[in-house]
Amino acid sequence: MLIDSYDRVVDYLRISVTERCNFRCQYCMPEKPFSWVPKENLLTFEELFEFVKVCIDEGINKIRITGGEPLLREDLDKFIKMIYDYEPSIDLAMTTNAFLLKGTAQKLKDAGLKRINVSIDTLKPEVALAIAGKDVLQNVLDGVEEALKVGLKVKVNMVPMKGMNSDEIVDVLEYCKTRNMTVRFIEYMENQYAKAGISGMKSQELLSHLAQHYKFEDEGFDGSSPSHYFKMEDGYRFGIIEPYEDDFCKQCNRIRLTAEGFLIPCLYFDEAMSIAESVKKGDIKTAALVLKEVVRTKPEKNRWGGDDAEVSSRAFYETGG
Ligand code: SAM
Ligand code: SF4
Repeated sequence: MLIDSYDRVVDYLRISVTERCNFRCQYCMPEKPFSWVPKENLLTFEELFEFVKVCIDEGINKIRITGGEPLLREDLDKFIKMIYDYEPSIDLAMTTNAFLLKGTAQKLKDAGLKRINVSIDTLKPEVALAIAGKDVLQNVLDGVEEALKVGLKVKVNMVPMKGMNSDEIVDVLEYCKTRNMTVRFIEYMENQYAKAGISGMKSQELLSHLAQHYKFEDEGFDGSSPSHYFKMEDGYRFGIIEPYEDDFCKQCNRIRLTAEGFLIPCLYFDEAMSIAESVKKGDIKTAALVLKEVVRTKPEKNRWGGDDAEVSSRAFYETGG
């Protein structure tokens, strides 16, 4: 079992399989980066899998594939199948913008993927165009329907932004509720890559807005999920991801791996250690030592919004959010 210096069990690995993306979301990658990581620096799926095996053997029981946009990486279903075949009980999930999901959902489900989180910030085509930099909405919605049809469990992430999509919070919630999908509202996290001038909504503002439409009660946190849940009168639950809150990191159980092989103990900080050389050489012992060291050095908490804020220079599309 992997336990950090604050007695938190680390059992969740997020793998960003590519930093590339087909969207240009204002809060994440509004411009194409000056350069992409050269293809030869990316770990192959075979190399990533060598490390995944180490992680599973050490106690990781939940793996999320993310990016950039993970569906841009060829043969993703084969990577998912490698993990599933090694340990079918792994909670195997993916976060995607769903643009390419319609044609891939069945293949991914057959490979062993169990759940997906889809980012839906709006239900208006022109707002989707403004947020993502291209006309994406229909493909995204078709992707969601297909995922539900093939039996994937779907959650939805929305980043509410004032003057952009904040008037659609209830619409997105209702869209999710009618499809039995949990929606989680994510507080916008400032970062140096985002478009200037974005004004996100904090948890209290979101709750006041929702309270004008619904009655709900606070259910607290659900296990190690970063989401704070609320239950409405009819039993539907929605979540808010509130990294600016003081107790956000208390239950943190995750580490992140980039496509280049950097293992990151906390999204907020720059610190990372590379497993690239060891997995390329097949040196599994060293990879396991790096894993343990990264878990040991996991910081107690992030400092989003603190006076001493000095956020990681790594972009969300690199770390996988
Ligand atoms: N491309 C996929 C997607 O958009 O779902 C996966 C990668 S994306 C980096 C993962 C999650 O991070 C998405 O739900 C996105 O909304 C969220 N995200 C990205 N930048 C963010 C920011 N500045 N503040 C809050 N959430 C952010
Ligand atoms: Fe791409 Fe996801 Fe970032 Fe949007 S949030 S730019 S879809 S990686």
